[in-house]
Amino acid sequence: MPLGFAAITERAPVIAYLGLGANLDDPRRQLSEALERLNAAEEVEVTRVSTFYRNPPLGPANQPWYVNAAARVRTRLGPEELLRLLQQVETALGRVRGERWGPRRLDLDLLLYNGEVIFAPDLVVPHPEMHRRGFVLVPLAEIAPQAWHPVLGKSAGDLLSELNPADRAAVQPVAAA
Ligand code: ATP
Ligand code: CA
Ligand code: CA
Repeated sequence: MPLGFAAITERAPVIAYLGLGANLDDPRRQLSEALERLNAAEEVEVTRVSTFYRNPPLGPANQPWYVNAAARVRTRLGPEELLRLLQQVETALGRVRGERWGPRRLDLDLLLYNGEVIFAPDLVVPHPEMHRRGFVLVPLAEIAPQAWHPVLGKSAGDLLSELNPADRAAVQPVAAA
C-alpha cells in the first residue's frame, strides 16, 4: 500500500530548547506551572529541565531578581507554532505586556529549534542574545552541553566557557526551599 497522506504530512518530532524566566509572584512557581502547561500540550513533551537559577535583573535595576531555567522539549510543532504556544502560556499565567525587560511573571523564549536558523519578522532562532547571557547559557549547558548553535558553530558548553567569568558567576542555583 502506498504511504497514506497522513503519514507523509505528519511532522516527525524534533528537539527544541527553551529559556524560562520570571521575577514576580513566586517565580519558581511560575516556572513550574509553565513547564506543566507545556508538557500538557498534546504535541509537546518536556524531556529535560535544568536547575532553577537566580540572577540579577536585566535592564531596570529596581525590580526583583529573576529565576531562570532551560528546558529541552520534543515536539511536533513547527517553530512558529511553538512560539505561539509559548506566548499562550505566558498569557495564561498572567503576563501583562509592558516595559521591555521590565518585571514579568513569566518569559518563555525559543532558544534553539532542531538545529535550524530562522529569521522571520516575529521569530529569530537561535535567540539572538542567547550566547551573551549567563542566565541562558548556565542552565542550557547544564542540560545540553552539546546543543549546537548553528550560526556560531559552537556548542552551548563552548559558549558558556567563553562567557565573561563575572557574568557566569552571577548565575547561582536557587537555594533549596
Ligand atoms: P529578549 O528577546 O531580548 O529576551 P524579551 O524576552 O523581553 O527580550 P519579549 O517582549 O518577550 O522580549 O518578546 C518580544 C518579541 O520577540 C516577541 O513578540 C516575539 O515575536 C519576538 N521573538 C523573536 N525571536 C524570538 C524567540 N527566539 N523567542 C521568543 N520570542 C522571540
Ligand atoms: Ca527573554
Ligand atoms: Ca521573550
